[in-house]
Amino acid sequence: MIPFLDLRAINLAQRAELLAAFERVLDSGWYVLGQEVQQFESEYAAWCGAAHCVGVGNGLDALSLVLRAWDIGPGDEVIVPSNTYIATWLAVTHVGATPVPVEPDSDSFNIDPARIEDAITPRTRAVMPVHLYGRPAPMDPIVEIARRHGLRVLEDGAQAHGASYRGQRLGAHGDAVAWSFYPGKNLGALGDGGAVTSNDAKLAVRLRQLRNYGSQRKYHNEEVGFNSRLDELQAALLRAKLPLLEAGNQHRAAIAQQYLEGLADLSPMLRLPTLASDAQSAWHVFVVRHPQRDALAQALAADGVGTVIHYPVAPHLQPAYAFLGLGRGALPMSEAMHREVLSLPIGPTQTQEQTRQVISAVRAAVLALQSNSGAAA
Ligand SMILES: *Cc1c(COP(=O)(O)O)cnc(C)c1O
Repeated sequence: MIPFLDLRAINLAQRAELLAAFERVLDSGWYVLGQEVQQFESEYAAWCGAAHCVGVGNGLDALSLVLRAWDIGPGDEVIVPSNTYIATWLAVTHVGATPVPVEPDSDSFNIDPARIEDAITPRTRAVMPVHLYGRPAPMDPIVEIARRHGLRVLEDGAQAHGASYRGQRLGAHGDAVAWSFYPGKNLGALGDGGAVTSNDAKLAVRLRQLRNYGSQRKYHNEEVGFNSRLDELQAALLRAKLPLLEAGNQHRAAIAQQYLEGLADLSPMLRLPTLASDAQSAWHVFVVRHPQRDALAQALAADGVGTVIHYPVAPHLQPAYAFLGLGRGALPMSEAMHREVLSLPIGPTQTQEQTRQVISAVRAAVLALQSNSGAAA
């Protein structure tokens, strides 16, 4: 049995460091917004090459608090990818603004800068590129378009901790980056957590206020804020895990390379992710495309290989977004991706031998599907 992601093994590999972090917090007697959060914020900001980091409750809050800090709300539009985890859209909806979906580049899965300009209206306030599956979105063209139209750029970095674009780690290419530390992310806590990185000092101050009841001084409230703080305990655990993130990402890159070599000749039936010439992916997931995706997933499951679909339903086709009135066929590229994508096992504890086993299972399944459809034709 090869699991899609072995979170238990990942965390047990650091059992001693995680227990030490827990004891430090327990013994400190201080459990919310203390030393550990402060230290994590400065360590993660430095790691990302950003001037500021503000820890918050989760990735969704990281996204929506930035939009609030920019006073984006009802009547405003925000450009989002048509294919993303629904949290990107929800953040826009939660502040009362309207998500305006833009279709991806068919090769990279990331938002297509050439299509962004067509979606801009007088109501547009911001663009939210998502570094989907860990691969950096094309930030230079996106920032250039945004600057020309006076728009903010909020990056959704939830899947891309440690990825780099044009030689620089993600963290401050746009105006702000929202991060999630959900357990399964490349940098994952043992519970919920999130953060925003940015070079904008004013934004950081506003976020510190918004995350803590709109308050900078205890019991004095400047605005109608929220309770969305990164836990002291989660910050301590993240500090223990941050030093291993780069090695974990390199291990993921080696697995990706092994897949790319072992599966290359199955093209065009099986479409593999491509490598960007100007960016280094964090390889959060390794996503292949196949016209008979569900049959492929079933065959792999029967062979003991765990897979996940990121994601089975496009955001505009979710009941939650029926009110936008974007029916089936409205965003055909996103819809086709959602029908065809399948994520293979990848993670910092996956062995070469396990990857080899996944490769032979995928090869057998793809070739069997090919000869079946040949027989049917
Ligand atoms: C995980 C994820 C989020 C949300 O993060 P949470 O911490 O679960 O709220 C947002 N965007 C993307 C692209 C994600 O993958």
